[in-house]
Amino acid sequence: MHFRCPPGLPSRAHDSEIDPIAPDLAKADAVAATEVSLQRPFVERRRSRRIEQSWPEAIDVLHQVLLGFENANKELVESETKYRTIFEDAPVGIFQVDRHGRPLSLNSAMSRVFGYESPQEFLAAVSKKQGLSLFDPTRWNALASSIGEADLRRFDLQVESRDGETKWVRFHVRAIREKGRIVRYEGTGEDVSERRRVEARNERLAYFDLLTDLPNRTLFHEQFSKVLAGARRKHSQVALLLLAVDRFKIINDSLGQNFGDRLLQEIAERTIEAAGANSVVARVGGAEFAIVLKNVGDLSRIAAIAESVVAKISAEYSFFGHSLNVFCNLGISVFPENGKDCEALMKSADIAMSCSREDGLNSFRIFTDEMNDKIQESLRMEHGLRVAIARNELFLVYQPQVDMRTGNVTGLEALLRWNHPQSGLLLPGKFIDVAECSGLIVPIGEWVLRTACAQARKWQDEGLPCVPIAVNVSPIQFRQQGFRELVRDVLEETGLDPKYLELELTESLLLSSADFMFSLIQELKDMGVMLAIDDFGTGFSSLGYLRQFKVNRLKIARSFIQDVSVDTDDAAITTAIINMAKALNLSVLAEGVENEAQLSFLQEQQCYTIQGFYFSKPVAVDQIDRHLRIGFGGFAPLAALGQPEV
Ligand code: C2E
Ligand code: MG
Ligand code: MG
Repeated sequence: MHFRCPPGLPSRAHDSEIDPIAPDLAKADAVAATEVSLQRPFVERRRSRRIEQSWPEAIDVLHQVLLGFENANKELVESETKYRTIFEDAPVGIFQVDRHGRPLSLNSAMSRVFGYESPQEFLAAVSKKQGLSLFDPTRWNALASSIGEADLRRFDLQVESRDGETKWVRFHVRAIREKGRIVRYEGTGEDVSERRRVEARNERLAYFDLLTDLPNRTLFHEQFSKVLAGARRKHSQVALLLLAVDRFKIINDSLGQNFGDRLLQEIAERTIEAAGANSVVARVGGAEFAIVLKNVGDLSRIAAIAESVVAKISAEYSFFGHSLNVFCNLGISVFPENGKDCEALMKSADIAMSCSREDGLNSFRIFTDEMNDKIQESLRMEHGLRVAIARNELFLVYQPQVDMRTGNVTGLEALLRWNHPQSGLLLPGKFIDVAECSGLIVPIGEWVLRTACAQARKWQDEGLPCVPIAVNVSPIQFRQQGFRELVRDVLEETGLDPKYLELELTESLLLSSADFMFSLIQELKDMGVMLAIDDFGTGFSSLGYLRQFKVNRLKIARSFIQDVSVDTDDAAITTAIINMAKALNLSVLAEGVENEAQLSFLQEQQCYTIQGFYFSKPVAVDQIDRHLRIGFGGFAPLAALGQPEV
């Protein structure tokens, strides 16, 4: 196609390339510039002759143009059909409404949202049924005023479908203007009821504990922060009470998860009730609840609420055919004294809760700065313990177990000691908790096991009487993966016959994760290792496990033996344990025997194996060979009490 430069526009250099007549015209113009005007008719004639000559070309061009139109029209029809199909078959609803929100057109997906099979069916219903439309006519004006042209405006609306079901529809709408006036609105709409249900559920999952319906840690953090911000403005006090239910895991494992769940729900309800109206209650851990008390006046009010919480939580629970009491501890921190933000207050309350355990179960403490010192002390202790093995500061002492009938040593219990560089000799009571909390009990326990087994083998190699060596095993160490392999490896390494190793387990350990424990205990027994339950009677008393876990021995706790000759209850419990052990064919040992009265009581009950200061305090390695060789024949009553404590 060729185009001529419009008159009035300057002709450009390349115009000549696109207009075959142009070079001649340029030449004619040049002639006109130099010759007189008489010559013009000649130029005109030449021009028309040239135009005539280009007619076939022009017709060709016209033909091309018409062909182009025809093709364009065909394409337009094709494209129209294509877009109509897309519109109609689109899985998402598409619509147009007039300025008043009345439907002009819509596709099938849009009509289906309203429960109609086709757009026609929907439009017919709209014309018949008053109030039926894509948008609620009573709300249209408000909606329309918020819809712009440039961006699609998104909003979720609840609509009622043909069968009365309420649905959430997500609309994207924009206004269409012509000559400056809004003529219609168009957009999309889709049923998002399910998505909103999932979103709502996810939101609940993210912010609420589904079991108790209480805020979870995340939401609690937000709510607590808001309460603190308010208190900062009003210069008021806020108290945080952190409540931990004792041994919940054991209850859960032994009475089943359904029971555990029900128990937590009941605890949550009781906590809300005790906390009162002006509070926020949340579940912030497995069996940990937080209570925020707003605008607290004085400490006595906080203490009264704490007391009421403890009383309510520790009252009896009864469901699923079981009745039981739970114990709890509560730590309290107060804003702004004990912390300026959530983290600091949570930390202070947590410290106070740990310290309340010193007062026993069902107790509470309000945070004090001295508590912080204590925590610092245990952190220092933890740091020291980390390097204690490498620096050879740990060592073992051994306490003989004696058959009172012969005075022979029948076993030795290995007990841990720490030669602290600054504090001197430390007994386990000072550092075992720190070792357990920090996980350091695992490497320490491994060291104890290896050292005790190696020592026992050494005594045997020296020709001393062979007796089992008892090693205390922390529940944390026992539950650690690979404990069985550790025992096997240590026995192999040291060459100690498994029958000379007795592992002392705690009662609580046997109650938790019963299945796993059952197979581990069986495997250890299959290896030939002996198993004893330490401090028997002081743990969570469910005797069923004694039938399930076939241990070899029960060690009666010192707390019963202490007053056995004067306290009838202790005497009754001790007698019962001895009889039960006999009935179950287990051997039994009495711990902490210090005097003859205790000894003769035990003798009467035919409990002959004794461990206690009466015979010997725990002693250093070099003193043991004498005990092993000559035992305590002829008794050495109370001689042990004069021995130096190690
Ligand atoms: P336990 O296993 O029940 O050990 C007996 C404790 O009672 C020892 O305290 C022992 O010195 C003390 N005792 C024995 N006879 C008498 C007595 O006649 N009168 C009095 N007043 N006390 C007596 P020790 O050595 O301080 O150990 C305390 C606890 O620390 C142990 O109780 C045990 O639970 C734990 N422990 C000790 N060594 C280890 C260890 O190597 N690993 C682990 N995990 N725990 C250990
Ligand atoms: Mg022990
Ligand atoms: Mg014990």
